[in-house]
Amino acid sequence: MDNSFDADSESGFVFVPKFLVPEQADEETKKLRTTVDKVCLEKDLRSQDFKCNSCGCAIGIMFGKFRSCHYDGHNYCYECHGNDTEFIPARMIHNWDFKKYPVSKRVKMFISHFERDPLLDISVLNPAIYAIKEMGEIRLLRTQLTYLKSYIFYVKSSCRRVQKKNMAAGIPLRTCSFVFHH
Ligand SMILES: [Zn+2]
Repeated sequence: MDNSFDADSESGFVFVPKFLVPEQADEETKKLRTTVDKVCLEKDLRSQDFKCNSCGCAIGIMFGKFRSCHYDGHNYCYECHGNDTEFIPARMIHNWDFKKYPVSKRVKMFISHFERDPLLDISVLNPAIYAIKEMGEIRLLRTQLTYLKSYIFYVKSSCRRVQKKNMAAGIPLRTCSFVFHH
C-alpha cells in the first residue's frame, strides 16, 4: 500500500492517490469519512479477528506487533502504523482536546488531505461551543466575511459590465471607478 503523495517538485502539483478521491474512494477510506465526527474507543483485537485493519496481516502477541490508531480505534501492523501523530477532529470538537495522537498511515494521509475541507458542521455536532465568547465572535466574523466576499464579487462583476459598456461607447475606463466607492 502506497501511503505517500507524489509531488512533482518542478510543477508544484501534488498527485492525490485515487483512494482519497471521493468518487473512487475504497471501503477503508469511506469508513474513515463516516467516523470523522465520532470519538472511537480502542477496539479489542478479537473484534478484528487478530488481523491488521488495513492490510489484513495477522497481528497479536503470537502473530506480530501492532499499534492502535486513536482516530478509528482499530489496531494495525507496524507496516500500516508508523506511529505518526495527528490531531483528531472528533476529540477537538467534543472534548476540546488539541493534542496529537498516534494514527495509522492511512489515517494520517486522510486527515492531511481533508484538513481544509468543511466536512464537519460544528453548529450541529457541538452547538454549545458557540456559547464560548471567542467562538461566538469567530462565527460572527466568518459570517461577515462570507457576506463581504459576495459583495466584492458583485462589485467586481458590475464593474466589468460597466467597463464593457463604456468601452463600447468609447468612454475612457477611469469613468467607471465610481463602482468602487460603494
Ligand atoms: Zn497492516
